[in-house]
Amino acid sequence: MELGVNRYPRRDTRQIVVGEGPKAVPVGGGAPISVQSMTITKTADVDGTLAQIYSLAAAGCDIVRCTSNTTEAAEGLAQIVPRSPIPIVADIHNNYKRALEALEAGVACLRLNPGNIRKPEHIKAVAEECRDRNVPIRIGVNGGSLDPELYEKHGGKVTPEAMVESALSELAYFEEVGFDLVKISVKASSVPLMIEAYRQLADVTDHPLHLGVTEAGPPPAGLLKATAGIATLLAEGIGDTIRYSLTADPIEEARAGRQLLEAMGLRERKGVDLIACPSCGRAEVDVIKVAAEAQEAFGDRELPLQVAVMGCVVNGPGEARDADIGIAAGNKRGHLFIKGENAAVVPEDEMVSQLVEWAEFITEHGVDAALARVDRKKAAREAEKDRQALLEAQGDDANNAEVIIDRIRGK
Ligand code: SF4
Repeated sequence: MELGVNRYPRRDTRQIVVGEGPKAVPVGGGAPISVQSMTITKTADVDGTLAQIYSLAAAGCDIVRCTSNTTEAAEGLAQIVPRSPIPIVADIHNNYKRALEALEAGVACLRLNPGNIRKPEHIKAVAEECRDRNVPIRIGVNGGSLDPELYEKHGGKVTPEAMVESALSELAYFEEVGFDLVKISVKASSVPLMIEAYRQLADVTDHPLHLGVTEAGPPPAGLLKATAGIATLLAEGIGDTIRYSLTADPIEEARAGRQLLEAMGLRERKGVDLIACPSCGRAEVDVIKVAAEAQEAFGDRELPLQVAVMGCVVNGPGEARDADIGIAAGNKRGHLFIKGENAAVVPEDEMVSQLVEWAEFITEHGVDAALARVDRKKAAREAEKDRQALLEAQGDDANNAEVIIDRIRGK
């Protein structure tokens, strides 16, 4: 699959723009799906919050949310907004006045939970201010904090219908004052519930949708739940911006969001796509350890390549022939291959450092320049030598299945 090509037809939505000037991030209307996260610092701690925002941006976050629960937090936002590299959304809790303060601080968007601010005059006052300032709002319905009236109306249960109704009634208040710069989320901690709520919402509105599984919990289960919900909807063409809500360092959220979009071909690759074999009886190195070292070494570096770590030279280069670059272990050596072609032989303890060095070279100069630098014939001869040596030592059946089967039959 060609990178960056969207193979999931996307639902038509109107577009809103979060932020302005060079920091503007369009959401909906065919814009690239954006990644969001949220700071976990006190917003009044300006330097701490800014440091986290810069780390989030480096990890792939396009839009960041900060809590604006006190006047001190809004004062912090006034200093954070002009220095942030990405647009800031203020999360407003129970008091609509916090929304007005955050707008004064210059935030690029507000997030309102209809379950928290319920007085129509307050909702409309905020929407009017946003309308006059051209600042969008996310209507953030949350299954866990649904308006009690709607909860009762829907049989004392949080249902997809109740969540959609909550979003639509908030939208109706906005429409009354002529405000429509809106994106919507209907998050729940239950994956089936949030999937159904978003599907129903997508049927009745063309506002862009912000996807997420709320309170997904710590990784790895939290990552799986969020991915199950978000990826299912994205594959149906639903969703314009996403957030992983993990009980973890928010950098993990940004990284996961970015990686999901890249893996689905919905965003251009920015970082390394590390693939590795699962290892087996033929492995010549501890593949888990080498792959972890490679992951650590590449980190968030902007090397838009697929990189393979393979446990043996017998099958590795063939199995990973589509990778841009890879390394396979054999006879205490690392066999480096570029686009399926043997390129070099390196000492086993330099496998990771050489992989990184060559990945940097390819990113800067391209595959052809890299192949022109090496003696491919010699590398192929050496690889074949080690391959044959391994086959002789291990035979065709490296997992010893035949011996084991004989043993089973002898029981
Ligand atoms: S055969 Fe080689 S490349 Fe394939 S899983 Fe086993 S060790 Fe890895």
